[in-house]
Amino acid sequence: MRAFVIGNAAIDETISVDGLPEPGVSILGRIASRDLGGKGTNQAVVMARGGLATTLVSATGGDFRSATIREQLAEEPVDARLVCLGGVSTDFSMVLTTPDGENSIVTTTEAAEALPLEAALDVLGEAAPGDFLVMQGNLGAKTTEALLRTGRERGMVVAFNPSPLRPYFECLWPFIDIAFLNESESLNLTGRTGRDAAEALHAKGIRQAVLTSGTDGAILSTAGGAVIDVPAVKTKAIDTTGAGDTFMGAALASAALRGGALDERAISHAAAASALTVARRGTRRAFPSRDELAEIFAG
Ligand code: ATP
Repeated sequence: MRAFVIGNAAIDETISVDGLPEPGVSILGRIASRDLGGKGTNQAVVMARGGLATTLVSATGGDFRSATIREQLAEEPVDARLVCLGGVSTDFSMVLTTPDGENSIVTTTEAAEALPLEAALDVLGEAAPGDFLVMQGNLGAKTTEALLRTGRERGMVVAFNPSPLRPYFECLWPFIDIAFLNESESLNLTGRTGRDAAEALHAKGIRQAVLTSGTDGAILSTAGGAVIDVPAVKTKAIDTTGAGDTFMGAALASAALRGGALDERAISHAAAASALTVARRGTRRAFPSRDELAEIFAG
């Protein structure tokens, strides 16, 4: 079984601040890290470190950030298919983190939105039925819909993380098997949280819904089946950037390595993996290592 992640690649510029800025106010900050990021890349890195054969399709511009992305991805076990586009800027995120681990993130999506559909479809031609197609909200609307539709038609298991929020998500649900949402995504897209939100997603055709709630843990709900509660693993959070991406990547890798079914064990593995991420500063550098994931998956 393989995973195909089609999403964004970005550089995360993380700045430590005492508190998140109010509108119209200038505040002081300190550069805390410059790291490989982007939701698509994050999820691909965690899946690949977890031992799942993972291909990442992503677009960059031709600038210095693109070179950094290539260098950092070359250190990962990801099969990276980067499309370098002239005339666009490589995407980056401005991440503000506070001492209590809270963050605010602004992400540019110029390169992600310019990802040529044909390039992504070419790579999807390598996928077999049952492989994972993993997507998020950074690509253009038409590209996202066409890729999700193709994944579904090819018999892939389609996992979607509706972030960052976009107005076009509503028409995507029919193509999605598994959805991962945090609390604000859940509230925004269903008007509800927890079990009620899962029910609303099942009514839209989602087979499995994973709803995460930070330190309150997560639930896994299967249409017509049980709802499983998995608590967060207690830790001292330093920087929560990438917690949700680690959770999704680890859950899918754990499931894939045991045959593909997303179950309670996969969600527990995801909680353990994301607890490691939040206890460290940065994005890629904060993710669990291959050894750490192997140990978690053995439990
Ligand atoms: P982010 O946007 O910060 O990447 P998210 O908002 O997408 O994260 P959350 O619901 O905050 O996702 O967190 C995902 C999972 O990560 C949680 O279900 C939990 O298991 C773990 N997690 C998040 N924050 C903490 C924390 N402070 N301590 C322990 N585990 C945490």
